[in-house]
Amino acid sequence: MKILISNDDGYLAPGLLALADAMSAIAEILVVAPDSNRSGSSNSLTLDRPLSLTRAANGFYFVNGTPSDCVHIALTGPLGFVPDLIVSGINNGQNMGDDTLYSGTVAAATEGYLFGIPAIAFSQVRSGWAELDSAALIARELVERRFDALPSPYLLNVNIPNLPRAAIKGILPTRLGKRHMSEPVIRASDPHGREIFWIGPTGAEREAGEGTDFHATANGFVSITPLQIDLTHASQLAILRQDLA
Ligand code: MN
Repeated sequence: MKILISNDDGYLAPGLLALADAMSAIAEILVVAPDSNRSGSSNSLTLDRPLSLTRAANGFYFVNGTPSDCVHIALTGPLGFVPDLIVSGINNGQNMGDDTLYSGTVAAATEGYLFGIPAIAFSQVRSGWAELDSAALIARELVERRFDALPSPYLLNVNIPNLPRAAIKGILPTRLGKRHMSEPVIRASDPHGREIFWIGPTGAEREAGEGTDFHATANGFVSITPLQIDLTHASQLAILRQDLA
Protein backbone atom coordinates (compact mmCIF):
# COMPACT_ATOMS: atom_id res chain seq x y z
CA MET A 1 0.00 0.00 0.00
CA LYS A 2 1.14 3.54 -0.81
CA ILE A 3 -0.01 6.43 1.38
CA LEU A 4 0.37 10.14 0.69
CA ILE A 5 0.44 12.22 3.86
CA SER A 6 -0.18 15.94 4.27
CA ASN A 7 -1.50 18.40 6.85
CA ASP A 8 -2.22 22.08 7.37
CA ASP A 9 -0.06 22.73 10.44
CA GLY A 10 3.14 22.57 8.41
CA TYR A 11 5.84 19.98 7.76
CA LEU A 12 7.41 20.38 11.21
CA ALA A 13 4.21 19.77 13.18
CA PRO A 14 4.33 16.96 15.77
CA GLY A 15 0.98 15.63 14.47
CA LEU A 16 2.43 15.11 11.00
CA LEU A 17 5.52 13.35 12.37
CA ALA A 18 3.33 11.05 14.49
CA LEU A 19 1.05 10.24 11.55
CA ALA A 20 4.01 9.57 9.25
CA ASP A 21 5.57 7.26 11.85
CA ALA A 22 2.31 5.35 12.25
CA MET A 23 1.75 5.00 8.49
CA SER A 24 5.36 4.04 7.67
CA ALA A 25 4.89 0.93 9.84
CA ILE A 26 2.18 -0.35 7.48
CA ALA A 27 2.78 1.30 4.11
CA GLU A 28 5.16 3.03 1.74
CA ILE A 29 4.73 6.73 2.49
CA LEU A 30 5.30 10.10 0.86
CA VAL A 31 4.93 13.26 2.94
CA VAL A 32 4.21 16.58 1.20
CA ALA A 33 3.13 19.35 3.54
CA PRO A 34 3.06 23.17 3.73
CA ASP A 35 6.26 24.97 4.75
CA SER A 36 4.36 26.82 7.49
CA ASN A 37 1.10 26.68 9.41
CA ARG A 38 -1.74 27.08 6.91
CA SER A 39 -4.62 26.20 9.23
CA GLY A 40 -7.90 27.66 8.04
CA SER A 41 -6.83 27.77 4.40
CA SER A 42 -9.75 25.60 3.30
CA ASN A 43 -9.50 24.32 -0.28
CA SER A 44 -7.55 27.30 -1.64
CA LEU A 45 -4.99 26.83 -4.40
CA THR A 46 -2.15 29.31 -4.93
CA LEU A 47 -2.58 30.82 -8.38
CA ASP A 48 -0.79 34.17 -8.08
CA ARG A 49 2.78 32.94 -7.71
CA PRO A 50 4.82 29.82 -8.48
CA LEU A 51 5.34 27.03 -5.96
CA SER A 52 8.49 25.18 -4.98
CA LEU A 53 8.93 21.64 -3.73
CA THR A 54 11.80 21.09 -1.30
CA ARG A 55 13.03 17.86 0.30
CA ALA A 56 13.79 18.16 4.03
CA ALA A 57 16.54 16.19 5.77
CA ASN A 58 14.03 13.64 7.10
CA GLY A 59 12.69 12.89 3.61
CA PHE A 60 9.51 14.96 3.95
CA TYR A 61 8.76 17.40 1.14
CA PHE A 62 7.51 20.90 1.85
CA VAL A 63 5.74 23.37 -0.41
CA ASN A 64 5.41 27.15 0.00
CA GLY A 65 1.68 26.88 -0.39
CA THR A 66 -1.57 25.49 0.96
CA PRO A 67 -2.53 21.92 1.87
CA SER A 68 -4.47 21.66 -1.40
CA ASP A 69 -1.36 22.87 -3.28
CA CYS A 70 0.68 20.13 -1.58
CA VAL A 71 -1.63 17.29 -2.53
CA HIS A 72 -2.15 18.75 -6.01
CA ILE A 73 1.62 18.87 -6.63
CA ALA A 74 2.14 15.43 -5.10
CA LEU A 75 -0.45 13.91 -7.44
CA THR A 76 0.38 15.79 -10.64
CA GLY A 77 3.99 16.95 -10.20
CA PRO A 78 7.41 15.33 -10.54
CA LEU A 79 7.29 12.78 -7.71
CA GLY A 80 5.67 9.89 -9.60
CA PHE A 81 3.99 8.52 -6.47
CA VAL A 82 0.52 7.04 -7.06
CA PRO A 83 -1.10 6.60 -3.64
CA ASP A 84 -3.83 4.13 -2.72
CA LEU A 85 -4.87 6.40 0.17
CA ILE A 86 -4.34 9.96 1.34
CA VAL A 87 -4.24 10.81 5.02
CA SER A 88 -4.09 14.30 6.50
CA GLY A 89 -3.20 15.51 9.98
CA ILE A 90 -3.03 14.76 12.71
CA ASN A 91 -4.44 18.26 13.20
CA ASN A 92 -3.69 20.40 16.23
CA GLY A 93 -7.34 20.76 17.24
CA GLN A 94 -10.81 19.68 16.21
CA ASN A 95 -12.40 19.86 12.79
CA MET A 96 -16.04 19.19 13.57
CA GLY A 97 -19.33 20.64 12.38
CA ASP A 98 -18.89 23.83 10.36
CA ASP A 99 -15.09 23.77 11.01
CA THR A 100 -14.78 21.33 8.15
CA LEU A 101 -15.52 24.10 5.63
CA TYR A 102 -12.52 26.15 6.79
CA SER A 103 -10.18 23.29 7.59
CA GLY A 104 -6.97 22.84 5.64
CA THR A 105 -6.64 19.37 7.15
CA VAL A 106 -9.93 18.29 5.62
CA ALA A 107 -9.03 20.18 2.43
CA ALA A 108 -5.84 18.15 1.90
CA ALA A 109 -7.93 14.99 2.10
CA THR A 110 -10.60 16.52 -0.14
CA GLU A 111 -8.02 17.32 -2.82
CA GLY A 112 -7.12 13.65 -2.98
CA TYR A 113 -10.79 12.65 -3.01
CA LEU A 114 -11.39 15.00 -5.96
CA PHE A 115 -8.62 13.12 -7.77
CA GLY A 116 -10.48 9.86 -7.15
CA ILE A 117 -8.34 8.63 -4.26
CA PRO A 118 -9.86 7.63 -0.89
CA ALA A 119 -8.85 10.01 1.85
CA ILE A 120 -9.04 10.38 5.62
CA ALA A 121 -8.54 13.55 7.68
CA PHE A 122 -7.44 13.13 11.31
CA SER A 123 -7.73 15.75 14.06
CA GLN A 124 -7.28 15.76 17.80
CA VAL A 125 -10.21 17.36 19.60
CA ARG A 126 -8.06 19.66 21.75
CA SER A 127 -4.98 21.49 20.52
CA GLY A 128 -1.63 21.09 22.29
CA TRP A 129 -0.78 17.51 21.22
CA ALA A 130 -1.76 15.77 24.47
CA GLU A 131 -2.07 11.99 23.93
CA LEU A 132 -0.70 12.27 20.39
CA ASP A 133 0.61 8.68 20.52
CA SER A 134 -2.91 7.48 21.18
CA ALA A 135 -4.25 9.47 18.21
CA ALA A 136 -1.56 8.03 15.93
CA LEU A 137 -2.47 4.54 17.10
CA ILE A 138 -6.13 5.20 16.27
CA ALA A 139 -5.12 6.49 12.83
CA ARG A 140 -3.16 3.33 12.18
CA GLU A 141 -6.00 1.11 13.38
CA LEU A 142 -8.50 2.86 11.10
CA VAL A 143 -6.23 2.67 8.05
CA GLU A 144 -5.50 -1.01 8.71
CA ARG A 145 -9.20 -1.76 9.16
CA ARG A 146 -9.83 -0.53 5.57
CA PHE A 147 -13.23 0.66 4.42
CA ASP A 148 -13.89 -1.73 1.56
CA ALA A 149 -17.65 -1.58 2.18
CA LEU A 150 -17.63 2.11 1.15
CA PRO A 151 -17.70 3.02 -2.53
CA SER A 152 -14.33 4.44 -3.56
CA PRO A 153 -13.31 7.15 -3.36
CA TYR A 154 -14.51 7.94 0.13
CA LEU A 155 -13.74 11.01 2.22
CA LEU A 156 -13.71 10.48 5.99
CA ASN A 157 -13.35 13.08 8.72
CA VAL A 158 -12.02 11.64 11.98
CA ASN A 159 -11.84 13.49 15.31
CA ILE A 160 -10.02 11.88 18.22
CA PRO A 161 -10.43 12.81 21.90
CA ASN A 162 -7.16 13.57 23.71
CA LEU A 163 -7.35 10.41 25.80
CA PRO A 164 -5.04 7.44 26.32
CA ARG A 165 -5.90 4.64 23.87
CA ALA A 166 -7.31 2.47 26.68
CA ALA A 167 -9.66 5.27 27.78
CA ILE A 168 -11.17 5.74 24.31
CA LYS A 169 -14.57 4.05 24.35
CA GLY A 170 -14.79 3.17 20.68
CA ILE A 171 -15.32 4.56 17.20
CA LEU A 172 -18.72 6.03 16.30
CA PRO A 173 -20.04 6.82 12.81
CA THR A 174 -21.38 10.39 13.06
CA ARG A 175 -22.84 13.32 11.17
CA LEU A 176 -21.40 16.82 11.38
CA GLY A 177 -22.88 18.98 14.12
CA LYS A 178 -23.43 22.70 13.73
CA ARG A 179 -22.06 25.77 15.47
CA HIS A 180 -23.45 29.16 16.35
CA MET A 181 -22.12 32.14 14.44
CA SER A 182 -18.41 32.82 15.02
CA GLU A 183 -17.32 35.13 17.80
CA PRO A 184 -16.59 38.74 16.74
CA VAL A 185 -13.15 39.81 15.54
CA ILE A 186 -10.63 40.76 18.22
CA ARG A 187 -9.63 44.42 17.98
CA ALA A 188 -6.13 45.56 18.85
CA SER A 189 -3.66 48.28 17.90
CA ASP A 190 -0.46 47.82 15.94
CA PRO A 191 2.77 49.47 17.24
CA HIS A 192 1.89 52.58 15.21
CA GLY A 193 -1.47 52.91 16.93
CA ARG A 194 -3.49 51.76 13.93
CA GLU A 195 -6.49 49.53 14.59
CA ILE A 196 -6.00 45.89 13.57
CA PHE A 197 -8.17 42.81 13.78
CA TRP A 198 -7.67 39.13 14.53
CA ILE A 199 -10.29 36.64 13.37
CA GLY A 200 -12.00 35.48 16.56
CA PRO A 201 -12.82 31.98 17.81
CA THR A 202 -15.45 29.70 16.33
CA GLY A 203 -18.98 29.84 17.71
CA ALA A 204 -20.24 27.52 20.44
CA GLU A 205 -21.80 24.20 19.50
CA ARG A 206 -25.44 24.57 18.46
CA GLU A 207 -26.44 21.18 17.11
CA ALA A 208 -24.42 18.77 19.22
CA GLY A 209 -26.92 16.05 20.07
CA GLU A 210 -26.59 12.31 19.83
CA GLY A 211 -25.29 11.18 16.46
CA THR A 212 -23.10 14.24 15.94
CA ASP A 213 -19.31 14.42 15.97
CA PHE A 214 -19.49 16.85 18.91
CA HIS A 215 -21.54 14.41 20.97
CA ALA A 216 -19.38 11.37 20.19
CA THR A 217 -16.07 13.01 21.08
CA ALA A 218 -17.51 14.69 24.19
CA ASN A 219 -18.41 11.20 25.40
CA GLY A 220 -15.01 9.66 24.83
CA PHE A 221 -15.53 8.17 21.36
CA VAL A 222 -13.62 8.75 18.15
CA SER A 223 -16.01 10.29 15.61
CA ILE A 224 -15.85 9.28 11.98
CA THR A 225 -17.98 11.26 9.54
CA PRO A 226 -18.25 10.37 5.86
CA LEU A 227 -18.22 13.57 3.77
CA GLN A 228 -19.39 14.37 0.27
CA ILE A 229 -18.60 17.32 -1.94
CA ASP A 230 -21.91 18.26 -3.52
CA LEU A 231 -23.13 21.76 -2.73
CA THR A 232 -26.33 21.51 -4.75
CA HIS A 233 -29.38 22.05 -2.50
CA ALA A 234 -31.63 19.33 -3.93
CA SER A 235 -34.92 20.36 -2.28
CA GLN A 236 -34.47 24.03 -3.23
CA LEU A 237 -33.61 22.97 -6.77
CA ALA A 238 -37.00 21.26 -6.95
CA ILE A 239 -38.73 24.43 -5.65
CA LEU A 240 -36.85 26.60 -8.16
CA ARG A 241 -37.83 24.27 -10.99
CA GLN A 242 -41.48 24.56 -10.03
CA ASP A 243 -41.20 28.30 -9.51
CA LEU A 244 -39.62 28.90 -12.90
CA ALA A 245 -41.75 26.42 -14.84
MN1 MN B 1 -4.30 22.98 11.60
